[in-house]
Amino acid sequence: MHYDVVVIGGGAGGIASAVGAAQTGARVLLVEQYPYLGGAATISSVLTLCGFFDQNGEQVVAGVGEQVLQRLRERGAYEEKTMGWTGNKIVLLDLETTKLVYDELVTEVDVLLHTTLIGATRVNDLVTEVELYHRGGRERVTAGAFIDASGDGALLAAAGAGVRIAPLGERQTSTLVCRFSGVAEDADLSRDGLRAAVAAYRRETGVDLVRDYGIAVHLPVTRDVIALLVDEQTDVLDAVALSRDEADARRQAWQYLDALRKHLPGWSAARLEETGPQLGIREGRHLLGREQITGRDVLGARKRPDVSIGRCGWPIEDHAGPGVTRYEPIDGHGWYDVPYGAICSADTANLWAAGRLTSSDDDAYASVRVMGTAFATGHAAGVAAAQYVDGHAHDVPAIRTELHRQHALA
Ligand SMILES: Cc1cc2nc3c(=O)[nH]c(=O)nc-3n(C[C@H](O)[C@H](O)[C@H](O)COP(=O)(O)OP(=O)(O)OC[C@H]3O[C@@H](n4cnc5c(N)ncnc54)[C@H](O)[C@@H]3O)c2cc1C
Repeated sequence: MHYDVVVIGGGAGGIASAVGAAQTGARVLLVEQYPYLGGAATISSVLTLCGFFDQNGEQVVAGVGEQVLQRLRERGAYEEKTMGWTGNKIVLLDLETTKLVYDELVTEVDVLLHTTLIGATRVNDLVTEVELYHRGGRERVTAGAFIDASGDGALLAAAGAGVRIAPLGERQTSTLVCRFSGVAEDADLSRDGLRAAVAAYRRETGVDLVRDYGIAVHLPVTRDVIALLVDEQTDVLDAVALSRDEADARRQAWQYLDALRKHLPGWSAARLEETGPQLGIREGRHLLGREQITGRDVLGARKRPDVSIGRCGWPIEDHAGPGVTRYEPIDGHGWYDVPYGAICSADTANLWAAGRLTSSDDDAYASVRVMGTAFATGHAAGVAAAQYVDGHAHDVPAIRTELHRQHALA
């Protein structure tokens, strides 16, 4: 098989990469290891889109991302919410509508689900081929340009491209998102309520649940509640550690159910509908880009109009350890520009990365990683990769012009 552009990973970054490349005229293959698209939203029940709006409520991501919001609106499954203690404006998702909308978005793209990237071939400073595995066996695919949107940096690692990996103790925690049914519409979901329930449970049982607050929201359509409470400080690049800690997270989920049923108003009939299905992984590898976004860029709301390929309006949200979250707002509660250099590999000319792989230091990563922004970086990576194959390599003004034609904000 040969394509213009191959995209690895079908989350927000990968979907936007694939659609952006196709809208620029490329023949695109999108590869996803799970049976549906959506990445963390659908495989880890992260059903809250952050990063479409800054903290003033201004929309900062459009383009392919806006196509997603539009399709949710058309299906009557669009719901915004401003979170009480952070003031962040988010979009709530219904799981099955989201899967459907993502399937519909990629009709101009060849999609291989159930298919895992297991290797890549590099010749000098170019990736030439990827090796894929699915139930039918192994398959090799060549392409002119490649995008790693795997979150994990699977293609970067396989292709021998530069990556940055923070020491384990400095990486953000992972969280097992729990979806509960049977929670009353007027149930207490507040930070203070959760804290009081966890404290009461500790007094009653002696069990010390580490996190005592986290996002808990009713979802559209099903009215289930997702709660982000079960933290694990695990090495997601070590299968032994991940297997052990994911099982521990499932054990904790039942303890939280017990605590909330007993001690939080409106939760007495709650049931644990689903965990995960996969542990929500915040941090593994990062792209070593031509440029790195820094915490100072984020906090200073740095504007880069000449090289901008997208905007990020999400504050620093650093899950620094189990139960610990540090928020720092962007100056003026506004947004900063994501520069083109942060999505292209420093050492591999036809390789880009999108979504949570975007090149950033630890503080900037805590901001740029959210799904709204992943739609923006993915969209730009797709346009850049398609133009590269068409003979316009790393031409930032041309990339920006095409992004604007496709209604992106950059
Ligand atoms: C617990 C938790 C809570 C979060 N809360 C929010 C939130 O409320 N709102 C928000 O916007 N963001 C949130 N985030 C951050 C956000 O979910 C991620 O940073 C975002 O999903 C990044 O998008 P992505 O496309 O880069 O990666 P992902 O969503 O991780 O998608 C990567 C995709 O690549 C696939 N893949 C990986 N390796 C391979 C391979 N070898 N072959 C084929 N496919 C592969 C994966 O299966 C996955 O589908 C949260 C993250 C976590 C973990």
